[in-house]
Amino acid sequence: MLVSGKEILLDAHKKGYAVGAFNVNNMEIVQAIIEAAKETNSPVILQASQGGLKYAGVEYIAAMAKVAAETAKVPVAIHLDHGTDFVQIMKCIRNGFTSVMIDGSKYPLEENIAITKKVVEIAHAVGVSVEAELGKIGGTEDDITVDERDATFTDPDEAERFVKETGVDYLAIAIGTAHGPYKGEPKLDFDRLKVIKERLNMPIVLHGSSGVPEESIKKSVSLGVNKINIDTDIRMAFNKGVREFVENNPDVYDPRKILGPAREEMKKVIIEKMIMFGSAGRA
Ligand SMILES: [Zn+2]
Repeated sequence: MLVSGKEILLDAHKKGYAVGAFNVNNMEIVQAIIEAAKETNSPVILQASQGGLKYAGVEYIAAMAKVAAETAKVPVAIHLDHGTDFVQIMKCIRNGFTSVMIDGSKYPLEENIAITKKVVEIAHAVGVSVEAELGKIGGTEDDITVDERDATFTDPDEAERFVKETGVDYLAIAIGTAHGPYKGEPKLDFDRLKVIKERLNMPIVLHGSSGVPEESIKKSVSLGVNKINIDTDIRMAFNKGVREFVENNPDVYDPRKILGPAREEMKKVIIEKMIMFGSAGRA
């Protein structure tokens, strides 16, 4: 069932759970996510990064995600992750995405407000939800790199003004997570999260959540995080599935036999996340 991102995340916000937004790059990943959602009766967000769209093509990603949504009874949203290009955001909307992120976090506040507002106006006119980002999340996501030392946490006053002026539906905040694998254990600023949630009273998004310990994830959810982005953990599960199979079966060359186990590995990881986030059983 294809729905807007807002429909999924407002329910999560009201009831106090989080929904996984899992990055898709090919058919096996889409199938792993949708099977996990069906099995756990969980709402889910299929998201594609600019790198993912470059790899597979926006039309392919949109078509696969729509088929997945139509074959599932659970609510499914199709989301653009870290959109930085206005034209590409419009292309995603035209191709049936029900949620888009405009990431203006690298710009000064005024500029971030201006470009976010422009996207919100257009997206809302056609029933598409919008995520924006305030503060800087460390690490690398495809071609966007933020030096970890330059990563700055979200300011609650700025967040309040940002939401009021842009009309954005959910906000990604920086509280100490980073994109990609972690070197040490991430220290999250829970006090900041609590203040921002109270002030905004809207769905909050956590990026760079692969590898964050379970107790930190659960605490974030209890303090108001409603969308949790997962990419790296899926990549690692895919890699594990392919590698193990190829090492144990060096003579097999059928792509279905090689990628099938990877799909199962990814599904297992995604089911664990859906239970951890509290979205299992909420569809
Ligand atoms: Zn991100």
